Amino acid sequence: MENKNEICLSCVDCHAFNCHYQDSKYPDFCPTTNMPRETYERAMNALKSEEDNRIAVAAACVEYEGYGKRTRVEEVIQFAKKIGAKKIGIATCLGLIEESRLLTKILRINGFEVVGAVCKAGATPKVDIGIPPECDAVGANMCNPVLQAELLNDAGTDLNLIMGLCVGHDSLFNKHSNALCTSVVTKDRVLGHNPAAALYTSGMYYKRLLEASEYALPAPVPRQARKLRLSTAHSSFSQRDPLRWVLAGYPRRTS
Ligand code: SF4
Repeated sequence: MENKNEICLSCVDCHAFNCHYQDSKYPDFCPTTNMPRETYERAMNALKSEEDNRIAVAAACVEYEGYGKRTRVEEVIQFAKKIGAKKIGIATCLGLIEESRLLTKILRINGFEVVGAVCKAGATPKVDIGIPPECDAVGANMCNPVLQAELLNDAGTDLNLIMGLCVGHDSLFNKHSNALCTSVVTKDRVLGHNPAAALYTSGMYYKRLLEASEYALPAPVPRQARKLRLSTAHSSFSQRDPLRWVLAGYPRRTS
C-alpha cells in the first residue's frame, strides 16, 4: 500500500516516452533503465517461446496493417486468421446479445465456426454463492463467467472474444479460459460501452472522478514534485489536482 503522501512514480507519470521516441532522456524512475535484468529476461524468454512468439508477431502485424484503417472487429478477424484460429468462442453479456448475434454473422461470413456462451447460462440463483440478496434487484440469477469459460473450454475454442462482460466477471472469464481472450466490447452501461468517454470528459462533466469520493484515490504529491510544491506554495492552482500537475509540470506528448 502506498503512503498517502508519497506515490511511486512509474510509466503513467512519464512524459518523455524515450522508450518509444528515443530522442530524450529516460526519467529517474524509468523501468527501462532500472528494472532487474531477470524481469526483462523473463518477458523476452516468453516472447521468444514458440507459443507467445506466434501471438506477438501476429498482433504486431495486425497493428501495422490496420493502423488507423481497420476497426477493432476487423482487427480481431485479422488476428484470428493470423494465429490460425478456426473455432471462435463468444462470451457475451445477455445485454449485448444482439451485438453478439451480429458479430457471429460476421465471423461466420469470414469462415469461422462460432460458439457462444451467455453470462446467465446455468440459471444459477445469486444466493447460491452468497451474493447479497439486494443484488437480486438487477436480476435473481447470477452472471457465471467461470461457466462461460468452461463451456468454451469444452467446445475447444481457439480464441475467445469478450462481449461486454461486467467488471470482474471479465477477470474471472480471463482467468478460467483455456483459449486466448480479447475484448471486442468493454461494458459501460452509462456511456454506450465507451468507458474512455468518462476520461475524455473528466475536465468537465465527469470531474467528480478527480474529486475525493468513496472510489477516488487520494491525491498524493509525487516525490519529485515536492520541491516544486514548496516553491509554488503561493500559486493559485490546487497542488492536489493531478491534472494541474500535468499541465503545470510536464509537457504532454502524443504518439
Ligand atoms: S521512458 Fe521509461 S518511464 Fe517513460 S514510458 Fe518509457 S519505460 Fe516508462
